[in-house]
Amino acid sequence: LLTCTEVRKTFGDAVVLDGLDLTVDEHEVIALIGASGSGKSTLLRCVNLLTEIDDGTIMLDGEDITDPRVNPDVVRRKIGLVFQSYNLFPHMTVLDNITLAPTKVRQRPAAEAKAQAMEWLDRVGLADKAGSYPDRLSGGQQQRVAIVRALVNSPRLLLLDEVTSALDPELVGEVLTMIRDLKGDGMTMVLATHEMGFARQVADRVAFLDKGRVLEQGPPAQVLGDPVEARTRQFLARII
Ligand code: ATP
Ligand code: MG
Repeated sequence: LLTCTEVRKTFGDAVVLDGLDLTVDEHEVIALIGASGSGKSTLLRCVNLLTEIDDGTIMLDGEDITDPRVNPDVVRRKIGLVFQSYNLFPHMTVLDNITLAPTKVRQRPAAEAKAQAMEWLDRVGLADKAGSYPDRLSGGQQQRVAIVRALVNSPRLLLLDEVTSALDPELVGEVLTMIRDLKGDGMTMVLATHEMGFARQVADRVAFLDKGRVLEQGPPAQVLGDPVEARTRQFLARII
């Protein structure tokens, strides 16, 4: 579904992605792990075309999305990105937050967008919050709304950047449950995470980023339990 080939990204003198290769198959869930500054967020932003790459290619569904002739808005509809800070619009209700893009950008009939939003909210147990403003919701609820907002575009791929790290520990579980349910639906996901327990549970494959490259990847039990590379071992020893 997604193929990143020799992706290079620099900020000034700093080489953040240094010839990175990564392939994601349809229905696969990949956890990106690695030290702070290893380039996880930058990679997700490049895939979503929020950051322009210097070199390499990123293919989605056989299309080179880094080709300058590609319309980034069309690509972003196929790739949902959810950040650590949920970025809901505070002056809009939950329902309006979710239906804004479908109705304003994609010109879908309001009734249809609303029905679809309500279906998702119902599924994640938040139907009763549709008319509430974000500040009336817990962090976990807001993050689930942010994920629903990405899902109503029916993306081919969902990118999740540390979606639980701003949450109080007791609220993490509800977001992780939602991600696990999405995996059950067959959603293809790439998630950057510092939670190795979660990576182990939900990911089909763990990719360890080091110095802007995927240094090691494989099944969670192998990469997290019995890594081949010394640098992976060092990283894991530091965080556990
Ligand atoms: P973390 O685990 O802390 O989220 P990360 O792996 O997501 O880290 P990135 O956010 O991708 O790391 O950052 C990689 C490097 O790129 C860092 O050194 C960061 O300072 C740098 N960087 C990221 N965005 C920019 C930017 N817009 N301008 C300059 N440098 C940037
Ligand atoms: Mg990051």
